[in-house]
Amino acid sequence: MSCGGPHQTPCEEIMAAMLLFLDNEIEDGNQLQAVTVHLQECPPCEGAVATERAGLQLLQSLLSRSCCEAAPEELFAKVFDQTQMLADQMIAMHNSQFIGQTQFFAEYSRTEITVDGVTQIIETSHEIRRDFPIE
Ligand SMILES: [Zn+2]
Repeated sequence: MSCGGPHQTPCEEIMAAMLLFLDNEIEDGNQLQAVTVHLQECPPCEGAVATERAGLQLLQSLLSRSCCEAAPEELFAKVFDQTQMLADQMIAMHNSQFIGQTQFFAEYSRTEITVDGVTQIIETSHEIRRDFPIE
């Protein structure tokens, strides 16, 4: 599920945020912007979102046509809980890619010191290790 092009935000993140996006529940402005930009440049993700949106709209129109009575509050709560659970699962699935991994960063610095017309160059480099703990 990727167009193969380079994206600032990976497709997996877009898919994980899709339900929130469709419900207009992304509160983080940067995240919303990232999703919007990604959907403009990635046809497969755009298509997936469009399909999901069409499905939701169909479901809504079917429901509103077939039942005139308001849904009981209990049902609202149930649907809300299930949606929340699904979202948590998707986020957990996404985050699990990073759990238990270790990243290495190389830090490099170069210092030039000139004393009495003689220039000394000091180069240092060391590795920084960062662990993603297993929760
Ligand atoms: Zn994508």
